[in-house]
Amino acid sequence: MSIAVAGRPCLGALGVFHAHNRDMAIRPQLPRVTLRAHIISTMVLMASIAVVLSGLLIGVLQQRAITSDVVEHLEEIRSRANLLSEDGIDPFTGQPFSSASQFLQAHLRRTISGPDEGELGFVDGKIGWVGPPEVGIHPERDIELMVFISPYVMGESSYIQTYRTHKGYYHVLILPVRYQGSTGALVHVVDITDRLDQSTQMMIAYAWVAVISVIVIAGLAWVMVDRLLRPIEQLRRAAEAIDERDLTSRVPVHGRDDLAVLARAFNRMLDRVQRAVQGQRDLADDVGHELRTPITVVRGHLELIDSTDPADVIATRDLAIDELDRMGVLINDLLTLAKSSESDFVQPVFTEVGLLTEQVLEKAKALGDRQWSIDGLANVMTFLDPARITQAWLQLCSNAVKYSAPGSAIVLGSRSEGDEVMMWVRDEGIGIAPGELERIRERSVRARDVAGGYVPGSGLGLNIVESIMTAHGGRLDISSVLGEGSTFTLRLPR
Ligand code: ADP
Repeated sequence: MSIAVAGRPCLGALGVFHAHNRDMAIRPQLPRVTLRAHIISTMVLMASIAVVLSGLLIGVLQQRAITSDVVEHLEEIRSRANLLSEDGIDPFTGQPFSSASQFLQAHLRRTISGPDEGELGFVDGKIGWVGPPEVGIHPERDIELMVFISPYVMGESSYIQTYRTHKGYYHVLILPVRYQGSTGALVHVVDITDRLDQSTQMMIAYAWVAVISVIVIAGLAWVMVDRLLRPIEQLRRAAEAIDERDLTSRVPVHGRDDLAVLARAFNRMLDRVQRAVQGQRDLADDVGHELRTPITVVRGHLELIDSTDPADVIATRDLAIDELDRMGVLINDLLTLAKSSESDFVQPVFTEVGLLTEQVLEKAKALGDRQWSIDGLANVMTFLDPARITQAWLQLCSNAVKYSAPGSAIVLGSRSEGDEVMMWVRDEGIGIAPGELERIRERSVRARDVAGGYVPGSGLGLNIVESIMTAHGGRLDISSVLGEGSTFTLRLPR
């Protein structure tokens, strides 16, 4: 006999697979954006942003450098002119300056202008002195510039201004000069058009280099991403190749990177799915196999029944009821096993193990005429499903009764040791041969040499106990000496 808890039939892994395939069939196919396209477009976008930003930064810094260079140069000219003015002596004649015009002439003669510079001397608001023909630029030839400068040359203060005309982009120093009632102004002009053009040329070259770099980055990214994503592609193909008929495909694992870890995890998941599906198939086989026998037995007896013989009718009826009872127990066992793969198979609560031990003993006493006793009580609270643990424990008690002689001792007990709680059933029954110890855990496997002849049973009892322990994260320990007795221990983590 086995202890059974009625349960609802479950789809199990096989059912889940069918449901999943149905889902896939009705889900609309969205256009596929590959991971590669995502990664490469992101990389190209980032590279483009980086080169554009650095290009802008370089451009701005260059312009600033040009401007500050020119302004610094104009400041230098202003301070040289101021020095000459303070000195008041014409360096060419050794005589003191007598007019603004004389000062301007001396300054202009002294100044060595660069190729993009030019000077003018204004005397009483009009152009008094111009630079020699060989100087880089002649500001007096740019009318727009002259119109811009003229209001400043009669002023009191010195200015450094920027001004753009059709002929150039100028930085202009205007420095008023006063000598003994005569007024004038020194105008020094730097045209930065060429320098800006050079900078623009450089920026165009930079833009080309940047475009080529982004193209090269995209190409390299394509090759690298292709290589990196190859395992994912294999993973995808393996996943597509797998269905409930063939769960044997595995993803090849290369290297030790994240993708290798993912591939290993994927393979482990496939192992679990394969085991679950195999379990469901075995269960279906067991159901067919186990139910066929009682049906054949009942049918055989009904066919041979002598309906005129009341004794035969009563005997056949008893046998049929007996077989049907056995079928009922069997179906309950099978349903419990089917339910064991569901997430709500166990519903743990904090439970006092000592109290549970006493309750199980009380229930077990009804299973058979034995000397029932307790040899230890663990006074600890543990997180477990009391109904399922009681079911497992009573299953072990039922086996102890089944495989021991009437009147022999059966001892229950519980103990807490380290981070484990142990609950056991010890009998003085027929025991199990060492070679059978592991085999009897398998579904529908029963020890071959059962002393004393045939003992009825489905061979599912220990399997149910194991399922309950696995669902609790625990295990079932079996120790036995043939002919002396066995101890079955439920070990649970606390
Ligand atoms: P069943 O008892 O229905 O055959 P179980 O899964 O409960 O199925 O047990 C499997 C086998 O383990 C039994 O057939 C029996 O050979 C052996 N077994 C289980 N419990 C005991 C026990 N207390 N003493 C000896 N043998 C046992």
